[in-house]
Amino acid sequence: MASAYRNFAPVDIMTMPKKQLKKLWLRFAFPLTDGKPYCPKCGSLRCTKIKTRKQYNCTDCGRRYSNTSGTIFAYRKLTIRKILFAVAKFQSQQFGLSAGDFAEEVGISYRTAWVLAHKLRQLMAFARRNDKITEDVAVDGAYFGGVFRRQNIRKGKDAQKKDRRLKRYRDEKRKKCVVAIKHRSSNTAILAKEFESESAAVRWVQSKVPMNATVYTDQGPWNDIGITHEHRTINHRYAFKLGDCDTNTVESFFSSLRRQEKIHACISRNYFQAYVDEQVWRRSACIYATSFDRFSKLAECIGGFVPDMRGYWQHGGAA
Ligand SMILES: [Zn+2]
Repeated sequence: MASAYRNFAPVDIMTMPKKQLKKLWLRFAFPLTDGKPYCPKCGSLRCTKIKTRKQYNCTDCGRRYSNTSGTIFAYRKLTIRKILFAVAKFQSQQFGLSAGDFAEEVGISYRTAWVLAHKLRQLMAFARRNDKITEDVAVDGAYFGGVFRRQNIRKGKDAQKKDRRLKRYRDEKRKKCVVAIKHRSSNTAILAKEFESESAAVRWVQSKVPMNATVYTDQGPWNDIGITHEHRTINHRYAFKLGDCDTNTVESFFSSLRRQEKIHACISRNYFQAYVDEQVWRRSACIYATSFDRFSKLAECIGGFVPDMRGYWQHGGAA
């Protein structure tokens, strides 16, 4: 939060002159050609402008396109200003923004906010798609969801005897296991994925961590990692850190996930991985030198891929 870092805030989008805003949008939507629109069908830069419609006609294939074609905001209804404000606002939060709050901030309906937030989560996952583990890591799993509400009666014969919030009483069908690999010394690389259980993730961990790196875990079902990698464990019953052996960095990633869980009143299990991806991006965002860097590196991905989100109801199936 040094003053040199704070060179941009979401509110700057709202006060930006129209010309500058358009330039910024074109830079984000077409980063490969430095802001010059090209045909989404054939990639040609040759076009004629259609003055009356703010569109272009491709000289080579005849496709008609606009400044948003080929981006995740194609077929938009919101103004460019509102879209950029929404992107800036969403990425500026430390742990996340619920769809309800997002709708309030941007002035859109809950459903629009929900879909927009999910598009941005996919953008975040896309922005960090090339992250690779290069050094020593801490690995751990954590369980989310599947908690039964405690009964309201505390004493007497009707009282609930067991604390159903505990891990062993969680609903097998509803609970989610997230396994994360994180650099021990920094936030530069975090890989996190949903699995059936911790033991189902061993092979994934082995494939992602380079052979010369040491893997630090707790005493979970991680012993097979020792076959391929140098493996050190810490007994959490006894201590959380002994000498230089600990898994604290990856535990702190899970603590951000739990804080995110509280921000959203409810996280659908069909989209759980999207929230994990979001938190990976947010934790890694400290690598950017300035707040504008953080915003622009994310926004530059809007032209890169087709999102799975098709709308609030997903037209018959979750992506
Ligand atoms: Zn074309």
